[in-house]
Amino acid sequence: MSQEDEIKKLQEENIRLKELQSAKTDLVTISSHQIKTSLSALKWIIKMFLNGDLGKLTAEEKSLLEKAYEDNDRAIETVNDLLSSNRNEGLVEKEYNFTNLNLPELIEDCIFDFTGEAHINNIEIIFLKPEKDFPLVSADKEKIRIVLQNLLENAIKYNVPRGKIFISLNKKSSEIEFSIKDTGMGINEENQKRIFEKFYRSDRAQKKQISGSGMGLFIIKEILEKHGGKIWLQSKENEGTTFFFTLKVVK
Ligand code: ADP
Repeated sequence: MSQEDEIKKLQEENIRLKELQSAKTDLVTISSHQIKTSLSALKWIIKMFLNGDLGKLTAEEKSLLEKAYEDNDRAIETVNDLLSSNRNEGLVEKEYNFTNLNLPELIEDCIFDFTGEAHINNIEIIFLKPEKDFPLVSADKEKIRIVLQNLLENAIKYNVPRGKIFISLNKKSSEIEFSIKDTGMGINEENQKRIFEKFYRSDRAQKKQISGSGMGLFIIKEILEKHGGKIWLQSKENEGTTFFFTLKVVK
């Protein structure tokens, strides 16, 4: 093999390795977010038992549940570490599995997972459910779950105590427009321009020490673009934010 060929081969090998590394990083970030959501839901359920909301506990039951609560908290910490250590790596697309998706059903499922988080923060989630024969969309269910989880997580995280979240769906010719409106801190115009950049976090979010990686909106924009959809927002500081996205209706 000539020296030139060898260099070319090494360069190709290098590109392949970088792609592999990047795909792994992507998987870790997405999986960590999902694990975190499940653990947070679990946290709330355990807390309800501990508060005696579901009946009085024996001393033994209480002590075991306290242990479960602490273990769960430690697991959440570990996932947070995993998310932040993964920050500086690249992101690469994974395979997409398009099906005919019932979006209202998936939204209800995701809202259920956040009942605990919302309850702890005194936030009400209101889903203006569409009529029964609402059109299906063409989408990868698990990827859209990630989109919904991130938007819901943000609408809670950046909301005010006793705030509200309104979710609605609208049919617009061959597309469905989803919107999620919160009554939170809002995003000023300057920050809005950069909000979908990787690792970008507003100064206010950082000053208030609200935890986050600045990866969520970047990831969901990629996911929606792979679906041929769009994402945008409207926001006013101290008044709240509405995120919108579109997905294509099944033909
Ligand atoms: P993270 O929440 O992990 O920081 P995101 O990519 O989900 O990352 O969001 C990027 C930034 O956008 C956040 O740090 C925050 O400054 C701002 N942001 C996102 N959603 C909202 C919202 N609903 N209200 C106010 N600010 C928001």
